[in-house]
Amino acid sequence: MCNFCKTKPVITLPNSNKQLCKSCFIKYFDKKVFKTIKKYELIKREDKILVAISGGKDSNTILHLLNKYNQRFKIKLEALAIDEGIKGYRNKTLKDAKKICKENKVKLTIISFKDEFGYTLDQLIKKIKLKQCTICGVLRRYLLNKYSLKLKANKLVTGHNLDDEVQSILMNQFRNNVEVSARLGPLTGIVEEKKFVRRIKPLYLLTEKEVATYAFLNKLPNTFTECPNAIDAYRGDVRDFINNFEEKYPGTKHSIINSFLKTLPLLKNGFKTSKAIKHCKKCKMPSSKEICQSCELLNKINL
Ligand code: SF4
Ligand SMILES: [Zn+2]
Ligand SMILES: [Zn+2]
Repeated sequence: MCNFCKTKPVITLPNSNKQLCKSCFIKYFDKKVFKTIKKYELIKREDKILVAISGGKDSNTILHLLNKYNQRFKIKLEALAIDEGIKGYRNKTLKDAKKICKENKVKLTIISFKDEFGYTLDQLIKKIKLKQCTICGVLRRYLLNKYSLKLKANKLVTGHNLDDEVQSILMNQFRNNVEVSARLGPLTGIVEEKKFVRRIKPLYLLTEKEVATYAFLNKLPNTFTECPNAIDAYRGDVRDFINNFEEKYPGTKHSIINSFLKTLPLLKNGFKTSKAIKHCKKCKMPSSKEICQSCELLNKINL
């Protein structure tokens, strides 16, 4: 029975054993997102917000939610999708992205690797000897930032949920990449930089299971397709490890996030001055080196 209204439950909350019915769960979910936005000051009135939309359940959920409550936020809301050119996958998820943007009357801009770099990701992975996800991630981040600036957005919303963040925290810990963790959190980045649009994660405190349930209950488009390149074995192993641990010791994921949030201000502070931000000599975007990661990567095409 639902803990609040004694009707049929649809979910048992991962961290509290509470059972909730459809309408109580949707209220709980919306409330939790707003609390996250308020507590971490993710959105301010009059912001111009871009949702980085992939067409998957996470970004569809956040677009749906921000649009539903935009009366309250009074923000300018648009969406930005990147078409990497992954045959049999991205075309399907982009269909869902277009559908949800249309339903919510949100303007969608789609930028493709092909138009921007001359090659699709499928072609690039034959030309550059790096892991597919590395090429994809570096170039996608570059385009998201470039077009957020072009579209004059001051925040970029991503659909990262609690499970994604827990995996990243542990991966950085296991690989001694704690400086990378300093850039995580509900509001990413360490220092303000005008050529870098900060990313915000309103779904930060909601688990994968909760987001999937919310998307399902709200009938949000979802084709359940997985990228054929999704073979990041390391992340997969970390995910399985955490999921096994969570099953045996419920509450583990929330404990990791909560303890991380306690140390995050110290981390951000500690890494504030460790590296001065430079600007890439080629594209003028912020970079920690003379040439940014994406220009360095694109240089490899012609080697
Ligand atoms: S799984 Fe890898 S290649 Fe596929 S979309 Fe994600 S980052 Fe890109
Ligand atoms: Zn209820
Ligand atoms: Zn560059």
